[in-house]
Amino acid sequence: MELWYNKNTAPTFDIKTSKSILHPFTFGKHKGHTLNVYQGCQHRCGYCYATYEWSPEFYDKIYAKSNAPELLENELKNWRSGTIEPVMISSATDAYQPAESKYELTRKCIKILQKYNIPYYVFTKSTLISRDLELHEQYKDNCFMVWSVTTCNESLRRYLEPGTPPASIMFKIMRKFASKGIRCAVNIDPIIPLITDSMENINPIVTNCRTASVKNVFGSFLRIRFDIWQRMKMVFKLLNKDSDLIIKDYNKLYNFTEPIRHDHNLRIAKDYEIAFLHNLEKKVRENGMVIDFPSLKGISGGKSPKFKNVDKNQLTLTNYI
Ligand code: SF4
Repeated sequence: MELWYNKNTAPTFDIKTSKSILHPFTFGKHKGHTLNVYQGCQHRCGYCYATYEWSPEFYDKIYAKSNAPELLENELKNWRSGTIEPVMISSATDAYQPAESKYELTRKCIKILQKYNIPYYVFTKSTLISRDLELHEQYKDNCFMVWSVTTCNESLRRYLEPGTPPASIMFKIMRKFASKGIRCAVNIDPIIPLITDSMENINPIVTNCRTASVKNVFGSFLRIRFDIWQRMKMVFKLLNKDSDLIIKDYNKLYNFTEPIRHDHNLRIAKDYEIAFLHNLEKKVRENGMVIDFPSLKGISGGKSPKFKNVDKNQLTLTNYI
């Protein structure tokens, strides 16, 4: 059966150079800078948003941006403004995917961000992050870690995101990080309609978050684009879903007809989303956690760290949460 990645071969690595490395983003009320030191991702999630013009190469050939640390240092050294928004590591790849054990670009860039006192947050599904536990610990007031978890159901995970570790291992690592005082959050993203949007799927995630001392849990529903839709149809087949039926349900839930247009970027019906997120929120609160992403409040607050005079006037993420 056709898959979105090459099942029979391991991904290959290559290097490339980039012209710039920090890129501003605005998403609703949130602002920041993205830092992506790899292109492509070995985690091979079928629903991945980072693919855009998807080709199997995204999952099978991983490029390391070998000049990323030099670029970052230069960009920060020559930063024109006295302020900078927190940095998101990463938005279009996983900073701790297996290539990182070979190239260590994420580690090098984090050291540079710390040198300039830049707040950052790491999004990952990887276990390799535990290699940098001490690095993050020494900077714990100015960073936090966000793990993306879609399911604790192992057979489901193997189909949806075959290159990721089991959730049980991620929760063990979260526990370690939280025990060192490093702030941890879990992003249940994407919540996949009719596949992972039952409370049977969500309850174990929330309970494991509480046990791991995670403070913040939040989530959002799958968005559908042309490339994602092609892969989701493969996922339906893998899961032995009645493809015709589930495709019709998705057509209704996302209000589109086949064939999906290339310029579509679709959100799920509002009432469906609200009803589910209400249940998620209730569950998260019952377990004593916050349903929110605290760092993004800081980004939207309009205050930024004055990173040039770091010794005299160090602002931390905590200051503006
Ligand atoms: S970990 Fe993130 S970037 Fe990597 S394949 Fe999965 S969704 Fe895409």
